[in-house]
Amino acid sequence: MSNVSETFGSMVFSPAVMQARLPHDVYKKVMHAIKHDERLTPEIAGVVANAMKDWAIEKGATHFTHWFQPMTGVTAEKHDGFIHATDDGRAIMEFSGKELIQGEPDASSFPSGGLRSTFEARGYTAWDPTSYAFVKDGVLCIPTAFASYTGEALDKKTPLLRSMQALSKQAVRILRLFGNTEVGNVRATAGAEQEYFLIDKSVYDKREDLIYTGRTLFGARPPKGQELDDHYFGAIKPRVSAFMKDLNEELWKLGVVAKTEHNEVAPAQHELAPVFSTVNIAADHNQLTMELMRTVAKRHGMECLLHEKPFAGVNGSGKHNNWSMSTDTGENLLEPGDTPGQNAQFLLFLCAVLKAVNDYQDLLRISVATAGNDHRLGANEAPPAILSVYVGDELAAVLDAIQHEEQYLGSGKEPFKIGVSVLPRFPKDSTDRNRTSSFAFTGNKFEFRMPGSSQSISGANITLNTAVAESLRIFADRLEAAEDMDAELRQLIHDVVCENSRIVFNGNGYDDAWVAEAEKRGLLNLRTTPEALPYYIKDKNIKLFETHKVLTGTEVHSRYEIMQENYAKTIKIEAMTMADMVRKDILPAVSAYTGDLAGDAAAKKAVSDAVDISYETMTISRLSELLALATKTVGVLDAAIVESGTIAGVEELSNYCRDKLFATMNELRIYVDEMETITSAEYWPYPSYGEMLFSVR
Ligand code: ADP
Ligand code: MG
Repeated sequence: MSNVSETFGSMVFSPAVMQARLPHDVYKKVMHAIKHDERLTPEIAGVVANAMKDWAIEKGATHFTHWFQPMTGVTAEKHDGFIHATDDGRAIMEFSGKELIQGEPDASSFPSGGLRSTFEARGYTAWDPTSYAFVKDGVLCIPTAFASYTGEALDKKTPLLRSMQALSKQAVRILRLFGNTEVGNVRATAGAEQEYFLIDKSVYDKREDLIYTGRTLFGARPPKGQELDDHYFGAIKPRVSAFMKDLNEELWKLGVVAKTEHNEVAPAQHELAPVFSTVNIAADHNQLTMELMRTVAKRHGMECLLHEKPFAGVNGSGKHNNWSMSTDTGENLLEPGDTPGQNAQFLLFLCAVLKAVNDYQDLLRISVATAGNDHRLGANEAPPAILSVYVGDELAAVLDAIQHEEQYLGSGKEPFKIGVSVLPRFPKDSTDRNRTSSFAFTGNKFEFRMPGSSQSISGANITLNTAVAESLRIFADRLEAAEDMDAELRQLIHDVVCENSRIVFNGNGYDDAWVAEAEKRGLLNLRTTPEALPYYIKDKNIKLFETHKVLTGTEVHSRYEIMQENYAKTIKIEAMTMADMVRKDILPAVSAYTGDLAGDAAAKKAVSDAVDISYETMTISRLSELLALATKTVGVLDAAIVESGTIAGVEELSNYCRDKLFATMNELRIYVDEMETITSAEYWPYPSYGEMLFSVR
């Protein structure tokens, strides 16, 4: 391995590079602008652009691009050359401040949920100096936000940046009330643990479903699967470790501090954990991570599957979003403090999160709602579709004491009182034991476990930041108006703990009893995307985003439409792929097999009437039944695909896709999977689950 300290961040136009390459006053102005979310003047931008270009050319770049995250979920780039022709026929390398600050991609093909058609056809990208530029594949990539000319956000970064500002503003108000005059801003931080599968390219290439939809639409369970996981957990296979080493190095060059280490529960499943950063950088880095996982896997003759549920009956993949808030003076606001004053502050920020999750369960659920993630949430593995907060036994006892105005004795000798006594220590492992919670406090941060493996983390963090900002706004209003701050603070914490106690749950989230209990508590259980999405446009939710200037009502509506459309599109593509596979490959293969079996049986009978042909007759008879059922069901599916084209209204369409298309697909799969178990492997047209899951050795 090359020297990590030399390669780390070598492809990033980082503060260190800027300091070395920019005139001192320009460097200071850039840093100031980053810290205070201010814009740079065109002159300063010009100087930065020139230094950036020289640096990028040294790194082998010939082109630049405004790198952005449209609503499709992947990143987009359009490359422009640095090269410009001069009047006297020479070529020079140029990159202006204007080109750095603003770009104009041909945006007409990105989803806008009706925004661009109703407003202005064009969109523009704007440089985000808080996420550093980098060189990838000979291209200088400049992280940018993407908006319409009338200012509507067309991407995921714009509202993310707005939500960070909203959170910072309210958190600073609270800190001032605690007498803190130093903090200038508060940044939300995130570390996104990424799960993924690796399979051999040769088996992947034979699976039309993986190629078109990212998941297997058929597949009988392998004889050895997860039940034997302890056999497969542990030592990482050489091919996988070579991939991980390569991936780490690529990521390190781009400044992503990643540790791709352990195997996950399912065979062929792995996880990468980065070191956390501000949510904005974390979101960009996670996009880069997903992109590089795919390209590096190909280099190693493998395919990286990022879908939430590539294999039925095998653990799905999530993306745990670890989240906290940090001051610019380096204080983690969710770190339980050492003094009574710090405890009270910690409890208040903790309460802000409890209230945010309780009040905006629906929005948090929506922030992770996709057709792919619906396979995971509530499917008896990853967290249920119900939001609840796990705080650990010790903290639960503290909250309980606050709620019932009892004295918490815990492990200490003194009864616990807010702002008077010191909180008991929460050892990290005691808070991280519950893996079944959708939202867990893990000692000094929260871990939101519902996001899907293929999703951008922007959506989840936009919601978290904004919902917590709203709690803090309400708290600050109340505390600022109080005559006796200490008394009001105690009362406020008491009230918030009481009002939001239903969201706290420390038991087993996978248990059926929890579903019933959650219903009794009045918690939402939005099982599917079509069920969840209508909550997005409820007045209280639009009001939240408008209050904090994160999204306008129009922007919320456009996002709602895009999510509905994405859901319907995903299901339709799956349905069409399924119908195609059944008609072109599966039915003909099974028919050929039964035909050959019938021939074999006849040949045997010709030898002697006494020959037992029970295998042939039983198999032929069951396969014929299944062939008939599958033929009929694929007909139903085809008709439903056609009918879906006639349905107007995004909500109606996604409901139809779930209730008709998806339901029919599930039925069809049952017949096909049974056929697979009794058809000769030689005839079966696709690699089996066993061949895929154990393809990388
Ligand atoms: P630990 O080893 O401290 O328990 P984990 O390995 O569980 O931490 O951390 C999981 C993820 O949480 C990592 O990506 C890590 O960078 C991230 N993380 C740690 N602290 C914070 C924080 N304050 N804010 C956001 N993410 C964090
Ligand atoms: Mg963790």
